Amino acid sequence: MNFIDAALHNPLLQPWTAPHGLPPFTEVRAEHFAPAFELAMREHRAELDAIALQSAAPTFDNTVARLDASGRAFARIELLFHNLCASETSAALQAAQRTLSQPLAAHANAIYLNAPLFARIDALFARRAELDLDAQSMRLLERVHDDFVRSGARLAGAERERFGALNERLASLSTQFGQNVLADESAYRLVLAHEGDMAGLPESVRDAARQAAAERHLPGALITLSRSLVVPFLTHSDRRDLREAAWRAWTSRGEHDGATDNRAVVREMLELRAEQARLLGYESYADYALANTMARTRGAVMGLLDNVWSRALRALEREREAIVAMMREQGATHEIEPWDWRYWAERVRQRRFALDDAEVKPYFALDRMVAAAFDCARRLFGVSLVERADLPVYHPDVKAYEVLGRDGRPIGVFLHDNFARPTKRSGAWMSNFRQQTKNGGAVIPIVVNNNNFAKAAPGQPTLLSFDDVRTLFHEFGHGLHGLLSDVGYERLSGTNVLRDFVELPSQLFEHWMSEPDVLRRHARHAVTGEPIPEPLIERLKRSRRFGQGYETVRYVASALTDMAVHSLPQGRAPADPVAFENQVLAERGLPPGVGINHRFTHFQHLFYGSSYAAGYYVYLWAEVLDADAFDAFVEAGDPFDGQVASRLLAHVYAAGDGVEPGATYQAFRGRAPRIEPMLEKRGLLEAT
Ligand SMILES: [Zn+2]
Repeated sequence: MNFIDAALHNPLLQPWTAPHGLPPFTEVRAEHFAPAFELAMREHRAELDAIALQSAAPTFDNTVARLDASGRAFARIELLFHNLCASETSAALQAAQRTLSQPLAAHANAIYLNAPLFARIDALFARRAELDLDAQSMRLLERVHDDFVRSGARLAGAERERFGALNERLASLSTQFGQNVLADESAYRLVLAHEGDMAGLPESVRDAARQAAAERHLPGALITLSRSLVVPFLTHSDRRDLREAAWRAWTSRGEHDGATDNRAVVREMLELRAEQARLLGYESYADYALANTMARTRGAVMGLLDNVWSRALRALEREREAIVAMMREQGATHEIEPWDWRYWAERVRQRRFALDDAEVKPYFALDRMVAAAFDCARRLFGVSLVERADLPVYHPDVKAYEVLGRDGRPIGVFLHDNFARPTKRSGAWMSNFRQQTKNGGAVIPIVVNNNNFAKAAPGQPTLLSFDDVRTLFHEFGHGLHGLLSDVGYERLSGTNVLRDFVELPSQLFEHWMSEPDVLRRHARHAVTGEPIPEPLIERLKRSRRFGQGYETVRYVASALTDMAVHSLPQGRAPADPVAFENQVLAERGLPPGVGINHRFTHFQHLFYGSSYAAGYYVYLWAEVLDADAFDAFVEAGDPFDGQVASRLLAHVYAAGDGVEPGATYQAFRGRAPRIEPMLEKRGLLEAT
């Protein structure tokens, strides 16, 4: 088949005629991507050359705005490809991913290392004060210029070549890292062969374990390494031997000899990142990464982490005392190990707050919690989500919604993909199929949320834990950030903000899930329909603080190892990343028995892509902002206060990166953020 024929039969290269321009999900196959990318990349490069090589002198419109509007045909294929690779992969897609990672990285180089194009942008940047630009256009020029500089546009000769080669190699390594983690996750199953293997497990966890077996066409029940199965198992299983087996499997992903070993991948990625940073004039990758954040410096990040670390250790020791007392009382004489902590903490929690999973979970049916999240968005921002069963999706479990603004007109499309399956990577995330823009005609966004909830058996409602509900709201907060975006340029739209600002809309949205008003409306019993009892709401609220020491210590420990390893200069990447990690944790005094579950060999935040490398701290940074931001509603006396909500919409959820984040936060709050609300929320204030 020649190239023209291939294009004619390739659904990616035909007009996308589904409603709202949704991708041709039902027709697309893995083999369509390589030829479609080849054509789309060629077209994109022609667009860029037309901008770069035009005879007219550079203006904002003919260069910066045109660049922002370019590459749409390429972007829609690239976003579809990455989303399918993450959410519904296959052997054929994984092979395509390995083949295409290098040419796709080379294509990014072709954009940012296009010398005549950068010359035009650089010339405009140099005289930006004379261009008479509106504020958002000025912001676009500054951000685009920075993108080019940070991608090596100022380098020349051999250094430029080397920088580009490093990008391509890093892209391949990152792909390999993610595929190795997925392979280790898919290969593992803890079979619960006998009734005795289920000892201690609540009915909901037993159901989920049976469902996981059924999905793999196996009899009985099993535990996979999906977070929504392994964490409840570690929390409830009476079988210490099985807990240990599950914990070891969970925390050793990517650390086994053989084809899926990520140790060498991590080592090489660290070395290459440090080399890139040095080429751009930075001492370490952390310095390079942080230059493009609100925090700006390692000192600012470490100041926050150190402050919280010492408080969290004290909170953890208070929790340990309660746990050890419970263990001794129940006759357990052994030391506490990482596979014990959640189990015994749960016993303390049940005693103190009389919280029984079997009592709580029926109030948190997935469908009702989705409705709760949508209802909060309606009450805050006036948007409604209407299910559209006729829209195409990439898997039968995915639900599609049209998002309508106050005036009833569509402002976006939302895809909700909630269940774990072997073809989806672990974790929870938000992504785009298309981003909002007004440049070159108004385009509404297509946003997807992925969760990994354990699906109930057919006919049963899927029940969530309180933590799962938080994840659901978190990702929907990111989703709203994409959907409510109302800016002029794609580069500035939605979640394209500085990375220590990007978790603000998501973490802030979590606050509404535990508001009594929201729980009363939506947390209704899956069988009886009764609203959640008030005393149970009260117990849930009080119980949230117990365990914050454990959660905070594990989180900050992971952020500290991330900062430590990315602060090493070129030539100093550790020969054994696992040993380095252990050494950092020992030096920092991670207490025994805690154990962290994000180890480098499967830490996808750091090594599957680079967007959270030297950036795991951003959740805590954003938490300072979100706790302080929610206080604005507390001060107004109403979690849905209309005036506060409309400021929040204008300056946060709709604002994208159109304004510098510190300034836009100040515009919302009327002052700079304060750290105390975050410390108070985590119960860390008294630990000074
Ligand atoms: Zn997030």
